[in-house]
Amino acid sequence: MADCLFCGIIEGRIKGDIVYRDDRIVAFKDVRPQAPVHILIVPVKHIGTLLEVEEDDKELLGEIHAVANRLAEQQGIAKDGFRVVVNCGEKAGQTVFHIHFHLLGGRHFSWPPG
Ligand code: AMP
Ligand code: ZN
Repeated sequence: MADCLFCGIIEGRIKGDIVYRDDRIVAFKDVRPQAPVHILIVPVKHIGTLLEVEEDDKELLGEIHAVANRLAEQQGIAKDGFRVVVNCGEKAGQTVFHIHFHLLGGRHFSWPPG
């Protein structure tokens, strides 16, 4: 999508600090990190929100979690614990409407979330 920020990063039109890429998934550092490790994992396919995930996307969502797992290991946060977060919709704080999985780690996280 031409006017989508994350499609722009995926396609290289907008600068991103990319840490992982394959045919279907891209991961890059969040520009305003909320933890020592804060990476956004996104599908190359433009999906606006979690609500738009379809039956055919099941495998893709599994792959995204496998990438989160590998990145957590690589970033050294797997052992201590980390968080994977999807904000869906405005009340949940979603600001970019290309689905993304926040991988957060390197500090203690409280519960419930704010
Ligand atoms: P959300 O609020 O769940 O929609 O998350 C959007 C995230 O994208 C926020 O954590 C922002 O800091 C991050 N973000 C916004 N613009 C960029 C960008 N150009 N590169 C990397 N991350 C970005
Ligand atoms: Zn997009």
